[in-house]
Amino acid sequence: MLTLEQAQAAIIEGIIPVSETEIIDLGQCPGRFLAQTTTAQVANPAFDGSAMDGYAVNISDLQQHEFRLPLQGESYCGLTEKPVLQPASTMRIFTGAPLPEGANAVVIQELVHCEGSDILFPEDVRPGQNIRTMGEDFNIGDVLYVSGHRLHSSDAALLAAAGVPQLEVYRQPRALVVATGDELVAPGQPLQFGQIYESNRQATILMLQQLGVVVDDGGTIADEAGALEAMFDGAADYDFIISSGGVSVGDHDLVKQVFAERGEIRFWKASIKPGKPVAFGRIGERTHFFALPGNPVSSLVTFKLFVEPGLYAWSHSQREYPLLQLKSSNDFKSKPGRRQFLRARMFQEDGGLQVEMLSGQGSHMLRSLSQANCLIQVDEDSSGFSAGDAVKVLPLFVDI
Ligand code: AMP
Ligand code: MG
Repeated sequence: MLTLEQAQAAIIEGIIPVSETEIIDLGQCPGRFLAQTTTAQVANPAFDGSAMDGYAVNISDLQQHEFRLPLQGESYCGLTEKPVLQPASTMRIFTGAPLPEGANAVVIQELVHCEGSDILFPEDVRPGQNIRTMGEDFNIGDVLYVSGHRLHSSDAALLAAAGVPQLEVYRQPRALVVATGDELVAPGQPLQFGQIYESNRQATILMLQQLGVVVDDGGTIADEAGALEAMFDGAADYDFIISSGGVSVGDHDLVKQVFAERGEIRFWKASIKPGKPVAFGRIGERTHFFALPGNPVSSLVTFKLFVEPGLYAWSHSQREYPLLQLKSSNDFKSKPGRRQFLRARMFQEDGGLQVEMLSGQGSHMLRSLSQANCLIQVDEDSSGFSAGDAVKVLPLFVDI
């Protein structure tokens, strides 16, 4: 059985990255992956300007005139010509306005006194004070993003400021999501004894959409070879098929077997808990297949650990998993063996962040999700932890 890292490596190796790209407007950037190195088209700041509301001065003029200068002119935002500071005078200036030719400092208005048309300044004015220098943030041609960067909403601010209205990004993947299991019933329908509500598919679809995937809902499929065959045979146009259930060792677990007749399984089973029965493979050169476990928590955890890095790799990017080290507020004892992921809650205590393992860790138990905001990672060789120990924490809702 593969370790977590071996299974993730097998996924990265088995993914055939997309080659098609498209041009999008900045407004469509969240969740997309850049297919170009992006450089600044303008400098930021684009000109020397004022960082404050106040008065532009030349320091040697100030010193020669006993820190008292007559007011002449005004520089305001939107001026499209550089103003000129007359010798031995000061100019009114506002935040973001161009610094006049001849000025080398701005004194904030709170520090001056007005006497008639003269302005009286303090004596400790430094050169460059309250000035935003052209290009101090970035210059024309500076590389701002490299190919493979996953764009966030906030990137639109930097790109707009840099004069980049459109971007070349990789096309979005298309995915088909199915649940398998004869016992599954859609929420909203009446339940008979022995049936349960299907709960994996909707979450998987939503998580995929948040990652920028175009998703089709393939519904629930019976535990029958014929139904699974029809699903695979109708899925040639998808970049990803993601199923849940039917991938373990039971007599009714047919997903792996039906898939193996059509494609190549790159691995089956990973040494993690929850989520051991999980498979990854590929049909031809296009369609990647993740068979996630049926147990709802296993399906969520394996989505995070396997599907996410697979999607990133497909888009020429790399999903990283920065782990926090936090003090645990409770104990956990376990047998060494598999890498474990415990649903947990980070919380603020005594000015620092701590973590609490939640009760109800069975992989069929969903209730703890209402409080979980992270997973505690327990390594293979660990027999658990005690209250006060530092533990490894994978935040669930931090998107880095
Ligand atoms: P399986 O992986 O098919 O052996 O299923 C493992 C457990 O997860 C069984 O208790 C199933 O009833 C349950 N299960 C499978 N698929 C789903 C699903 N889509 N939603 C909720 N529970 C499921
Ligand atoms: Mg099943």
